[in-house]
Amino acid sequence: MTLVPSHFAQQSRETGALARIAVVGRGFTGMMTAIALLKTFDRPFHLVLHDPYPRIDGGEGIAHTASPLLNSRVRDLSIDPILRDDFRAWLETDGRWDEGGQTSADGAVDHAFVPGEIFSAYVYQRFAEALHGRTDVIMQISAESVTAVERHAQGGLNVVSGGERARFDAVFLATGYGLRDGREDTAAQGTATEAIVIGGGVHAVDRALRLLASGGAAHVTLISASGFLPQPHTAAAVGTVVSDKPFPNTLRGAFRSLREAANRAAVDGSGWQGIMNDFRQRACDLWRGLTPEERRRFKRHVKPIYDSHRNRLPPAQYARLREAIASGAITVRKGKVERIATNGVLLSTAGGLQVLAADVTIDCRIRSADLDSSLFRALFSTGVAQRDELDLGVFVDASGRVVNGEDRFEGLFAMGPLGLGSLPDIDLVPQIVTQAYAAASALAERQLIGVDVVRAE
Ligand SMILES: Cc1cc2nc3c(=O)[nH]c(=O)nc-3n(C[C@H](O)[C@H](O)[C@H](O)COP(=O)(O)OP(=O)(O)OC[C@H]3O[C@@H](n4cnc5c(N)ncnc54)[C@H](O)[C@@H]3O)c2cc1C
Repeated sequence: MTLVPSHFAQQSRETGALARIAVVGRGFTGMMTAIALLKTFDRPFHLVLHDPYPRIDGGEGIAHTASPLLNSRVRDLSIDPILRDDFRAWLETDGRWDEGGQTSADGAVDHAFVPGEIFSAYVYQRFAEALHGRTDVIMQISAESVTAVERHAQGGLNVVSGGERARFDAVFLATGYGLRDGREDTAAQGTATEAIVIGGGVHAVDRALRLLASGGAAHVTLISASGFLPQPHTAAAVGTVVSDKPFPNTLRGAFRSLREAANRAAVDGSGWQGIMNDFRQRACDLWRGLTPEERRRFKRHVKPIYDSHRNRLPPAQYARLREAIASGAITVRKGKVERIATNGVLLSTAGGLQVLAADVTIDCRIRSADLDSSLFRALFSTGVAQRDELDLGVFVDASGRVVNGEDRFEGLFAMGPLGLGSLPDIDLVPQIVTQAYAAASALAERQLIGVDVVRAE
């Protein structure tokens, strides 16, 4: 599908001077990148959004039916880098989401947690507005998956999809957690006595609680590989890690400083959550200064604890989790799932292998980037991109530019979670928003060749 605005500048069409830009993936990161390009890339361009997933929306990954409640507050979900209250303002123009009026108190909307589909509608509306504002952009939706991105001999990049090659000035990879298959999560829509939910993140907890609440299961075994479960949000979450001493630049020093600040916050009653939020603002600088060995140590020993403190549950949901554990409705098991069968799982624990029987098993583990797909295999084998040393994604700089060993930028960006080995927290909405605008600006500064009419050889 191609959208050419009726008032599309005739001159742009005739000169062939259109820059061609591809975005691969239409999840939140891809749509956010498209919005940032539409808002800041100030030359006429042809934008192609690739994704075989049939829906085009603003945050489908986040708004998946399996996770109706976002775990970030309204105040942290603006997708406008300047108007930090843009999401709240958008919500306030449409009172339907808060029909019970629970958030009528001053400031309550900022601290509210809203369903994913509301956020998705907000992102989509901002995308539609940004597109409407551009009379010099042709937008095309491609329903093909991209199988390779290659250097073009005359400059730019070839995108291979549906057996065809097309040449682009710039390509933004936003493939997140890999291809989505479009199937709804229908598991456990009936009733089950015993359910297993695999995963220790907010998505897994949410799924377990909803199974119990809907009568979908009488008992849930929640399997967390690290044994950790998400911590709760607090009301305010403000605070700072810094004292008058300079911030340490080693992993050990930084976490000692974090612990001390959190202990001080516990004593004065302000809560560790604000300290953690502040720490995350510094995490990027700290990460850059760590040695490869320290980064590996972080992944092995610290990441599960770090994740359980950064991805937090809304207070009411956390209280329900504690109650369910206390009443025996949820049993938490630590272990690695070796195999999933129709009637349960094979679990590897410190005590050896165990078989856990269940009527239904739901896998809510956090997926990682699909670096074994043909797309990434091709990028790595041709040296266009490099796997980061933690195997979490691709080496990138802060604006998502793919950095290869020769330090040569060829117009390729890897956005959002694809940069998790280089940029901590780049899987979260505020960081993705900042990165999308930084990437669009970086592209605007670059001399583009305008390859629109050239078909790749
Ligand atoms: C359930 C859930 C709740 C979340 N809640 C929050 C929250 O409250 N706050 C917060 O800050 N963050 C939250 N996040 C995290 C965050 O926003 C995610 O990091 C973000 O959704 C990642 O989006 P993405 O577009 O990069 O990846 P994805 O959502 O995985 O989308 C990738 C897209 O790329 C497509 N694709 C993959 N490979 C190809 C290919 N070869 N060719 C073409 N297309 C391809 C896929 O089909 C898919 O549509 C949540 C995430 C989830 C999943």
